[in-house]
Amino acid sequence: MSPTTLVWLRRDLRLHDHAALAAGLAEKLPVQPVFIFDSGILAQFPKKDDRRLSFIAATLCAMDAELRTRGGGLLALHAEPETLMPKLAKALAAENVVAAEDYEPGARARDQQVGKALGAVLRLVKDQVMFAPGEILREGTAPYKVFTPYGKAWRAALQPGMENAIAIHDKEAYADVAAMRKLARVAGLEPLELGHGPAHLLAQVGYDYAEDALWPADDGRKRLAAFIRHGAKDYAKTRDFMGLHGTSRLSPYIRFGLVSVRECVRGALAAGADTWLNELIWREFYAMNLFHFPESAHTEWNPKYREVLEWSHNKEHFKAWQEGRTGYPVVDAAMRQLLTDGWMHNRARMVVASFLTKHLRQDWRLGEAHFGQYLMDYDLASNVGGWQWAASTGTDAQPYFRVFNPVLQSERFDAEGDYIRAYVPELRGVSAKDIHAPWKHGVGYIRPIVVHEAAREAAIAMFKKAS
Ligand SMILES: Cc1cc2nc3c(=O)[nH]c(=O)nc-3n(C[C@H](O)[C@H](O)[C@H](O)COP(=O)(O)OP(=O)(O)OC[C@H]3O[C@@H](n4cnc5c(N)ncnc54)[C@H](O)[C@@H]3O)c2cc1C
Repeated sequence: MSPTTLVWLRRDLRLHDHAALAAGLAEKLPVQPVFIFDSGILAQFPKKDDRRLSFIAATLCAMDAELRTRGGGLLALHAEPETLMPKLAKALAAENVVAAEDYEPGARARDQQVGKALGAVLRLVKDQVMFAPGEILREGTAPYKVFTPYGKAWRAALQPGMENAIAIHDKEAYADVAAMRKLARVAGLEPLELGHGPAHLLAQVGYDYAEDALWPADDGRKRLAAFIRHGAKDYAKTRDFMGLHGTSRLSPYIRFGLVSVRECVRGALAAGADTWLNELIWREFYAMNLFHFPESAHTEWNPKYREVLEWSHNKEHFKAWQEGRTGYPVVDAAMRQLLTDGWMHNRARMVVASFLTKHLRQDWRLGEAHFGQYLMDYDLASNVGGWQWAASTGTDAQPYFRVFNPVLQSERFDAEGDYIRAYVPELRGVSAKDIHAPWKHGVGYIRPIVVHEAAREAAIAMFKKAS
C-alpha cells in the first residue's frame, strides 16, 4: 500500500488559497482530502432540514466535482472524528494528516485527542485568521481585553504580502479516490456517496436537503468581488442601515471558509475599506478572546457578573422575542429575519440582543443558543462575543447603563421603515412616521410587551445591584 497525505477539511471548505491543502501537497505524497460529518456536532442539529447542512453538502459536492477534474476526489464520512481519524489514517497508510487550526474549545479538545492517537502525523496550520490567538499579545505576553489597542497591534503586525493567497503546489497530485474508498471499506469504514448530489449526500447522514436561494454555495467569491467593486467604498456610511444591503453578507462564506480571510483582507486593502477591515479584525479579536477565556462560552466573561445577575424567567416574554411578537416593530422584524433568512443585520443583532438582556432581563445564554439554532454564520466566538457585548458582561462590552431605545434605533437606522415592512407584513401599509411605535399612532399591531422607560430602569437596577 503506497503512503498518502490526508488533508482534513473542517472550516476551510474551498480549494484555493488553502493552507492545509498547500501544506499537504508539499509533502509530495498523493493527497486525499477528507471531510467528516461529526456525529457529535450533528446531534446539536435537531432540524432535519437545517439550511447550514444543505450549504455544507452543496459545497462538498461541488468540491468533489472540482477535485475529480484535478485527478482526485473527496472522501466524506459520518462518524466521531476522535475515533474515526486514527482508523482512517491507518487504513489509508497516511504518513501525514494536515488540517487547519481551529481555536474553539471543543475543536481544540478534539484535535488534541486525535493528535494523541496520531502523534507527529497530525499537523495543524494557520488558515482561518490572519493572526492566531497567540500572535497578537499585550507586551508580548497577555491577551488584549480591549478592542482598540488589539486592532492597532493587529494592523501594526500586518506586513505587506501576508494577505497574498497561499499558493497550492504546482503539481497537484491526488490519491486515487476509488482506491481510497475501497481501503476505507476494507477497514470497516463507510465512505459516503458524493456523486449523486447534495440531497443524496445529506440523506446518508439523516438530513433533508433544501435548495437555498439566499445562500447559494457557489456565491462566496462572486459576492466578495462585487462587494469590493461596488459596496466597500460606501460601507462606512451604509453599514448601519438595516433596510439597505450595505454590508457584504459574506459571513456564512467566511464562517465555513468558502472564501479565505486573506482574500477578504486583500480586497479591503485594495479598496481602502478600512471600516470593513476593522470588522474582520473584530472577528479575530473574538476568536482570540474565546481561545484565552474558553469558559466565556458559557459563563460571564467579566467575573463580577457571574451568578449574581437576577435574570427574569418569563417564558412568555422569551417566546414573544423568539417569534418576533414583542410589539416593537424593529425587534420583531429582526427576529423574523433570523427565522426566514437565517441571518440578521449586525445593527439588528445588537438591538435584539440588548432588548432580550436589558428590556426583558433574560439570560444572554438563551439568546446565544437561539441564534445558534438559526444563524447561517453561527460562530461560537463571534456569537458569544456579540451577546456578551450586548449583555454588558463581556470583554470591552457596552456599559450596562447605555440601554438601546428600540424606537430611536428604528427611527435612526430604518428611517423609512423599509426593513420593518420587509419582515412584518402586518405593517406593510403603515407610513414611515407611524411604523416605529405603532401604539402611539392608533395603528393596530401587537401592544409592546414591556414599556421602554420602566424596562430600562429595571435593567439598570439589576446591573447596579450586581456591580
Ligand atoms: C449578538 C450578536 C451575535 C453575533 N453572532 C455572530 C455569529 O454567530 N457569527 C458571525 O460571523 N458574526 C456574528 N456577529 C457579528 C456580525 O453581526 C456579523 O458578522 C455580520 O452581521 C455579518 O454580516 P456581513 O457578512 O454582511 O458583515 P460585514 O459587515 O460585511 O463584515 C464582514 C465580516 O466581518 C466579520 N464581522 C463583522 N462584524 C463582526 C463583529 N461584530 N464581530 C465579529 N465578526 C464580525 C464577519 O465575518 C463578516 O462577514 C454577531 C453580532 C452580534 C451583535
